[in-house]
Amino acid sequence: MEFRKLTAEEEHIIVNKGTERPYTGKYDSFWEKGTYVCKRCGAPLYRSEDKFDAGCGWPGFDDEIPGAVTMKTDADGMRTEILCTRCGAHLGHVFKGEGLTAKNTRHCVNSISMDFIPAKTRPSSDTAIFSGGCFWGVEYYMKKAKGVTGTTVGYTGGHTDNPTYKQVCAGNTGHYEAIQIAFDPSVISFEQVAKLFFEIHDPTEWNHQGPDFGEQYRSAVFYRDEEQKKVTLDLIAQLKAKGFKVVTEVKPAGKFWIAEDYHQDYYTHKGSEPYCHGFVQRF
Ligand SMILES: [Zn+2]
Repeated sequence: MEFRKLTAEEEHIIVNKGTERPYTGKYDSFWEKGTYVCKRCGAPLYRSEDKFDAGCGWPGFDDEIPGAVTMKTDADGMRTEILCTRCGAHLGHVFKGEGLTAKNTRHCVNSISMDFIPAKTRPSSDTAIFSGGCFWGVEYYMKKAKGVTGTTVGYTGGHTDNPTYKQVCAGNTGHYEAIQIAFDPSVISFEQVAKLFFEIHDPTEWNHQGPDFGEQYRSAVFYRDEEQKKVTLDLIAQLKAKGFKVVTEVKPAGKFWIAEDYHQDYYTHKGSEPYCHGFVQRF
């Protein structure tokens, strides 16, 4: 078993069964969501859901993670010691019958015997990269969607660094005109963003979009992970099943080069509507 090296102070509590001074531990008044683990061996011991304000100066829990904590009567027969089942680290003492919570149990634990692992929170932002013709038009429609928190137009998928608009339009950089979208997944899912993408450009047009011709106008989804890839392929299959001859390419996301300033929010600044894109219901 791998043990973490303890400081003298930690060893005093964890190995020699000492007690930290009340109201001094870092988890005494600490209410974040997550899991408390053994300082020495890392075994999960307690959940934040079972922590309560015992008012005694040490963290209090009215339940342990099943099997994680071993109870042992102190040598003097008065109190019940609690130890990490995995490594035997001293945690504190357990008291029953105090009537503080419905479970009528208080694990009184030294903060120093534990580490805290915060609960994984849902990311508040995700990104996606699409290419569907002139990026001015794609951006115009995508940024109107609720939950889309930001858009940036640029170039991706090519073989040159720091491409300029002029180079991309000349047609030998391999780059796509693309848009990077930031969105809040609690408001709009990647699937909804991707559906919108397939409905504001024509995914059956090869190497052009409306009046714009050139390989930079290819239709493509650049996926960030396997989930985005799976969702995209599923949407394309749905469209094909409806008879659309979809030519959209599905590729792993690579470096995204931000386009020149004057391309960003082009139509918003210009105060006009795109000539190249429009919404067509396809799903
Ligand atoms: Zn342990």
